[in-house]
Amino acid sequence: MINLDPLKKDPSKKSQLQQTQDSQNVQLKAQFNRLLHNAHENQHKLKRFEEIEFKLMAAESIEQLLRIIRDEYAALFKLDACTLLLEDENLSLRRLIPESMQASERHCDGAQDFLTLLNFPVELEKLSCLSTQITTGVYLISRHQWLMDNPQIESIAVMPLIRRGKKIGVFCCGSYNRERFQVHAACDFLQRLSFIMAVCIENALNLERLKLSTITDPLTQVHNRRFFDQRLPEELARSDRSLKAISCLFLDIDHFKSVNDTYGHGVGDDVLCQVAQRIQSVLRNHDVLARYGGEEFAVLLPETGNDEAMLVAQRIVAAVNKSRIVIEKNVILTITISAGVSTLMTEESIDDTLNSMETLGMKLLSTADQALYDAKEQGRNRAINAGLLALVDPVECSQKFQC
Ligand code: GH3
Ligand code: MG
Ligand code: MG
Repeated sequence: MINLDPLKKDPSKKSQLQQTQDSQNVQLKAQFNRLLHNAHENQHKLKRFEEIEFKLMAAESIEQLLRIIRDEYAALFKLDACTLLLEDENLSLRRLIPESMQASERHCDGAQDFLTLLNFPVELEKLSCLSTQITTGVYLISRHQWLMDNPQIESIAVMPLIRRGKKIGVFCCGSYNRERFQVHAACDFLQRLSFIMAVCIENALNLERLKLSTITDPLTQVHNRRFFDQRLPEELARSDRSLKAISCLFLDIDHFKSVNDTYGHGVGDDVLCQVAQRIQSVLRNHDVLARYGGEEFAVLLPETGNDEAMLVAQRIVAAVNKSRIVIEKNVILTITISAGVSTLMTEESIDDTLNSMETLGMKLLSTADQALYDAKEQGRNRAINAGLLALVDPVECSQKFQC
């Protein structure tokens, strides 16, 4: 009988075949384990990405969102540095993002601040030339310094943030490890994250725009009366707590009706904007300027005594008077403004039952308005000081200031 089984015929062959099969099994097992390990790693990575994505989507303000990207994302993925550059061609983001989050100075170790707002033409050009795809690889000063100016970085991931086909910015992750972001690294997770980040940043900025529009005068871009009326009692309460003086200015452009009557409302609007800028240029960052009515402005000067407030008012009167407003080729307007000044000095805590903050606010404002009336009476283009407010029982305030 013929033996058809080669193994039975030759036992040494059997063991050879067995050995090959065994070694193939070992390789397959190792490959399987590697795949399993990768699958676990990816699952773990996906979880971390999902965790950060949910947080980004839940952020309630641009400040919170930027903090999550800067602090939590960097910590979760053990990044050595991360930067965010946002397009700000018309300088509008500066008003929407808190100053504390905006790049101001370089750190002593040479590292760049987290957020940079791009508005110089050369920066905007670089942003528009950036690839629309995520790029990873070795950090090159010549190519990456404008994105991440940190001499210790060895590898970098550059993620463009795109909305409706336009780059709104770029997010960069940096590592001191050269192998961290390799040229051909898979970028699926980063792709998804950059998309979600772009959507969240755009939404958060739109929300801030909406918030700002409810407290901004659309013509002059200074605050509106609603904002001033909200801030007044808050600032009074703060000055009450700190026992510091607070002053108020009430301002009204002189003979403004004749500007409208002579040159038209368009020129009148232009004059209003320029006067608002003049007033703003005299004030400190934490002073509150609002367009209170047609051609009237109110200013709140926290932590400012009466003499100092009077000086500020005189500076405003001078700044407006000095400015030459060019309305057409050979027509230059000289505008003047009148001001009333009042101050509340809190040497001891105000008795809330007698003088609620709202009532005190109205009184401070109406006193400044009365002084403004006197300035008009005395010839305009001047500031008149009503002095310190007497703290007595609430008085009947004029209809104008009733909340
Ligand atoms: P006075 O020195 O006494 O303050 O005189 P005046 O002419 O400034 O005051 P008056 O109250 O008679 O006129 C204010 C004018 O401001 C009338 C109004 O048409 C104009 N005005 C109010 N709001 C606006 C605005 O948004 N744009 C323009 N162009 N004019 C405005
Ligand atoms: Mg006027
Ligand atoms: Mg007026």
